[in-house]
Order: sequence, then C-alpha cells, then structure tokens
Amino acid sequence: MVRVRLAPSPTGTLHIGTARTAVFNWLYARHEQGSFLLRIEDTDKERSKPEFTTNILEGLTWLGIDWDEDPVVQSERIDQHQAAIQELLDQGLAYRCYASEAELEAMREAQKAANQAPRYDNRHRNLTAQQVAAYQAEGREAVVRFRIDDNRDIHWRDLVRGPMHWRGADLGGDMVIARRAPADQIGDPLYNLVVVVDDAAMAISHVIRGEDHIANTAKQLLLYEALGLPVPTFAHAPLILNAEGRKLSKRDGVTSISDFKNMGYTPEAIANYMTLLGWSVPDGMDERFNLNQAAGVFSFERVNKAGARFDWDKLNWLNAQVLHSLSGDALLEQLCPLWAAQGWPIQAERDWMLELTSLLGPSLTLLNDGVDQARPFFEQPPLEADAEQQLAMEGAKTALSHLSDALQAQSWDGKDKERAQSLLGDAAKAAGVKKGVLMKSLRAALLGRLQGPDLLTTWSLLAQIGEDLPRLRRCLG
Ligand code: GLU
Repeated sequence: MVRVRLAPSPTGTLHIGTARTAVFNWLYARHEQGSFLLRIEDTDKERSKPEFTTNILEGLTWLGIDWDEDPVVQSERIDQHQAAIQELLDQGLAYRCYASEAELEAMREAQKAANQAPRYDNRHRNLTAQQVAAYQAEGREAVVRFRIDDNRDIHWRDLVRGPMHWRGADLGGDMVIARRAPADQIGDPLYNLVVVVDDAAMAISHVIRGEDHIANTAKQLLLYEALGLPVPTFAHAPLILNAEGRKLSKRDGVTSISDFKNMGYTPEAIANYMTLLGWSVPDGMDERFNLNQAAGVFSFERVNKAGARFDWDKLNWLNAQVLHSLSGDALLEQLCPLWAAQGWPIQAERDWMLELTSLLGPSLTLLNDGVDQARPFFEQPPLEADAEQQLAMEGAKTALSHLSDALQAQSWDGKDKERAQSLLGDAAKAAGVKKGVLMKSLRAALLGRLQGPDLLTTWSLLAQIGEDLPRLRRCLG
C-alpha cells in the first residue's frame, strides 16, 4: 500500500517548490491508488503561523490537490519524539553534549583557520561520569547528539537518482537531535529525528521530496536503523532553477502559489506546469493535461535528475491555452470577481457580459489581462497620443461628425451590423474620406487608442449601453 506525504513547514506561504513536491506526491499516490497525506511541520514555534497553514491548505485545494486523512500536526506529537530520543539515550546511541556556543564557535574558527570543513569534532562523545557531573554542577545546559560513525557507508536506491552512496564522515559529526535544555530534560526535538519518527508512525512507504534533502536522507537512514523502524523508499525530485541555471529564489519574482493566483494564472495551468517541472510526458502525450490525466501515466522513470528550468514563456503559453479553451460562461465566471473588484457594474445584462467576454477571450494570456482590456467598456478611456494624431487627420473629424449626426437622428442599438456598415459608408462618403480612415478614427474615439479588438463588435457593445455617441461627441469638442 503506497502512502506518501507532503510535510510543509507553516513558516511562509505555499512556495512553488513545495507545490511541485505536492504535485509529484499526489500524482504518485493517485497512480498507485495509494494515500496522499499531509503533515504540518510546525515545530519552529517562533516562525510557524496558523495563517500560513491556511494559505498552504488553500493553495493545495486551489491547485486541485486533495488529501486523504486529517493533516497530522507535528507539534502535537512531541511526546513521541522525546520518547524516541530517550530510547536513543538509553541505548547509548545518543548522548548529551555540554559544549557551549562559545566553545563551538572557537572550534569552527580553528577549523576555518586550518582550511578544514566545519564539523562537530565529537568532543563530548565519551565524557566520564566525573566530567558530566562537573558540567552539571556549572549549571550548563545540553543538546542531545546522535552518534554518527565516520566509517559508515550509507547506501540507498533513489527512485529518481538510482544508487546513492554517502559517507558517515561527510555528515558533519554527531548530529544534534534535541535543542539545548537543562541537563535533566530533553529540549525541543529537531527536524531529522521528528521526520523519521513521524514518517514511521504514519506508515509512509515513499518519501518524495526535493533534492536539497539528500544529505538529510543519509542522516535519517541512520536514525531508522537506530530506532529499528521500517525504512521507506526515497525519491528526490530535481531543484527548480531560474533562467540562469541557479536555484530559483525570491529574487526571481516567483514565490508563492498565491502570487501566481494574483497575477492571473489559472490553477489548471499552474498544476500542469508544476508537473512538467522535472517530469516529461510519455511519447505521444500532449504537454497540456490535467492532473488526473498525468496521474494515469505518472512514474519516476520520467522524472529527470537534472534541475528543471523555470520557463515563463511556457507557463504563459499553457495559461493562454487554458483560458482560450474555457466556455464563455466559465471565463465570465472567472472574470466577474476581477471586474467587481474594479467597482464595475457586473450586474449588467448577461448577454452583454458574455459578448464582451468572447470578444476579449482569445487575446488573453493572463486572467488579469481581462481587466485592462475590459476597462474601456466600463470607463471612458483617456485619449492617447496616437488616437489624438488619428483624429487630427484630414477629414477624420468631419466623418465622425457625420456619423454623430446620423446617430443623433436615430441611434444604433448595436444589433444590426448591416446598419452599422451603411452608417459608416454614408458618413465616409459625405466627408469625402476612405471608409478605412473613418474606422480608424472611430476606434480612436471609442477606445482612446488605435489598438484593440474587432471594431464593429466594440462599437456594438458600447452602442448597447449608449456609450458610443458621448465618446464621439467628446472628440468633436
Ligand atoms: N518540513 C520539511 C520542508 O518543508 C519537510 C521535508 C521532508 O519532506 O522531509 O522542507
């Protein structure tokens, strides 16, 4: 039975790297008909905040990722963590280290001066009872350290990276598993220890996480062994890189899933793109898919070892594809909240709103483009320089003035496009200009600029709400 988990720390909003890990876990669980679980790793009391937990759960739900059991809250399991530490102490596999921060700092300085890699030199590994008593009499606090034998060879078979090998000597010396506390107590248990205890308690079969955890995996394997717990299978997904090939960071302007949402990306496009960050589709499968389709074919064989470059163009392309494939009703439903936030009257006639949506839809890349592009339909736009220039062309205003007179006599209701054409033809003829000149000028008058969607539909929409004539008049001064 496959049981996987996402173990986010609620010290920030749902980050793109965590979201990608979530997607891989979810895809694997669904492909194997197993369970996808959540564990909130909130043991960092200062930095963990309930609003981050909310953000993470909402972000996953927004992406279409569901989980199978109530999330496990790590801080509620501290008794089990401390019991495991006590067990290691009792077996002599862990010990209390009384070295002070100042002593450890001096040790690191000496290593640096000697050009050695920083590591704990295991100085308190074999204290005599007398030494311990002396430190305790001084009132020193102690961390708990787990013994790591420098001569150990640690091996595992990674589902993405194949056979892995790590040397005990490269793990930085005996590892702290509990923070400093008075010597008769066990301080706050630390990450590597709690992850092992919790993954075993949750019967996790596969640990799927980012490549930055590989060194932790080596340490955790030693803890599984020491605690006599069953060892899960590991899969380390490649890092997400920026365009320069470095680890993606806040400086790249990409942080959390809620940022993508606010920028106007759809959950479908983000989920699709996250999957492609490190996984490649089998031959013959389209790169556009939904999570269920990907779950049908997901395997770690198609997860790459090399880092995955974040490609905005591809994400934008996917987002545009998703938006263009939505029905008018579905797109309108997504646009309405954005329009409402601008204070625009979205209670307007539904047919009008749908027509506006289908006019703008094909040119949208981001949902938010639908705000800028809809603006001139809800607010009278200022005249931009190129529009002013067009209106200053010979005959332009005369033609608009003929059109305005005709509309004054009998306004166009925006429905009969034949009538619009003949109104344009007549006004151009009366002013002695080409119809093209009038059309360009009409666009300038209606939209305040020369770029925009189909002119007749634009005019029709504005005519239906009685907004065409006032905009013509404004240009005629
Ligand atoms: N809380 C850890 C993190 O967010 C979990 C790592 C793991 O999956 O073991 O990086």
